[in-house]
Amino acid sequence: SGLKEAVVLVTGGGSGLGRALVQRFLSEGARVAVLESSAARAETLRSDFGRAIEVIVGDVTVYADNARAVEQAVARFGRLDTFIANAGIFDFFQPLSQYDGDRLGAAFDELLAVNVKGGLLGARAALAELVKSRGSIIFTISNAGFYPGGGGPIYTASKHALVGVVKQLAHELAPKVRVNGVAPGGMKTNLSGLQSNGTHSQSLADIDGLDQMLRDITPLQIAPKPEDYCGPYVLLASAADAGPITGAIIQTDGGLGVRGIVNVRGGEAL
Ligand code: NAD
Repeated sequence: SGLKEAVVLVTGGGSGLGRALVQRFLSEGARVAVLESSAARAETLRSDFGRAIEVIVGDVTVYADNARAVEQAVARFGRLDTFIANAGIFDFFQPLSQYDGDRLGAAFDELLAVNVKGGLLGARAALAELVKSRGSIIFTISNAGFYPGGGGPIYTASKHALVGVVKQLAHELAPKVRVNGVAPGGMKTNLSGLQSNGTHSQSLADIDGLDQMLRDITPLQIAPKPEDYCGPYVLLASAADAGPITGAIIQTDGGLGVRGIVNVRGGEAL
């Protein structure tokens, strides 16, 4: 895949999609660093992957933590080729009408701080190294970057915002740094909620019947696992394979954009 010896920094690599990306990039021959806020998950990464990876415990919403992650990755591996802004939190579909008005602002601030500000801070921290390496940035978006109902208004706003961030940074950082996104559909992970509304320890994996729901709503009738979403990241990270690609978002959501009006999928009888 052209990623041998490439250095990749992934945020939120301690769980779910981020952890699957760690494994996938290692298996592609890349060297991997992780910025992860959970000390316990960081420890598990260290014991599972040992010296193969560099793990930095820190918070994507704090610029100094992003800067430290880039510094440590470069100190350890000598360069940085790809920054993957992946850490995220969820609003558990909470509709506008169900927020107390005086709590809405805190929920918005907390969620957008991680999902949007975190990506911008990380991109800023990684920038000089990516210019040097002619590297790239990949944002984890979501079907919620394109369609309603994949979250509540706060999560949907955060992922639509990232679509704009991809376009703006792809423009600003050309010709030296490519900037793209991957927009996965649902998957059973520990994706969790907010301190400010008490859903911090709730997790998407606790939703009963999530996989069946995903099979029902996707034209491709699938309930992918995190590892099923990693291929597009490998493609976008590879200068050899994705050299001309910037400002693109690969939607890997089982075909939500081609759901039919009458039937979810048209090929049941094939
Ligand atoms: P996850 O909770 O399993 O993994 C996210 C990781 O990020 C966790 O290890 C968490 O500790 C870490 N993290 C959270 N806040 C952080 C912070 N402030 N600083 C550093 N690390 C932090 O969830 P996941 O589903 O793997 O989420 C990864 C990305 O995928 C998110 O951007 C999410 O929005 C996106 N996504 C998830 C789904 C889904 O259905 N699970 C669908 C589409 C997109």
